[in-house]
Amino acid sequence: MVSGVQMQYYKVCKRKLWLFSKGIAMENEHERVIEGKILHERAYPRLGDREILVDDAFKLDALDGDYIREIKLSSKMSEADRFQMLYYLYELKKRGVQKKGLISYTKERKTEEIELTEKDEAAIEKAIKEIYAIVHSASPPKLKKLPYCTKCAYYEFCFALEGDD
Ligand code: SF4
Repeated sequence: MVSGVQMQYYKVCKRKLWLFSKGIAMENEHERVIEGKILHERAYPRLGDREILVDDAFKLDALDGDYIREIKLSSKMSEADRFQMLYYLYELKKRGVQKKGLISYTKERKTEEIELTEKDEAAIEKAIKEIYAIVHSASPPKLKKLPYCTKCAYYEFCFALEGDD
């Protein structure tokens, strides 16, 4: 099954999705994951249901009434965050659970409400198919420089290898 992180990377960079899915992990990526975990621990001390594992497949930060909640450091990747949340809502709906999503951005101190529409469902289904095709491909998607690259954990890996800088 596709993970939430894979869904997010699908939106950020398909090459990153491939590298991550092949288990090519970079040290600073690992640190970022730990940072995120600490953030979650601090953010939801009052919610008993924080970190809910759904069918051993993906983890939700917290359940809060009609909402599932995610917390992010900043809204820099808000489109990818939104897509990840839509994917969670989609998977929950498939299991007969209808929820809405709330994403809180700590840096900007704002919260976004996300609702799954039929159009979103179709987009998620298309993304799932494409993610499977990408991760089962023998080679990574071609390198294409993105504005995000310099902040990416795979930057050196990508650009040292292909020398496109
Ligand atoms: S450095 Fe750029 S191209 Fe390479 S994985 Fe990261 S975002 Fe993608």
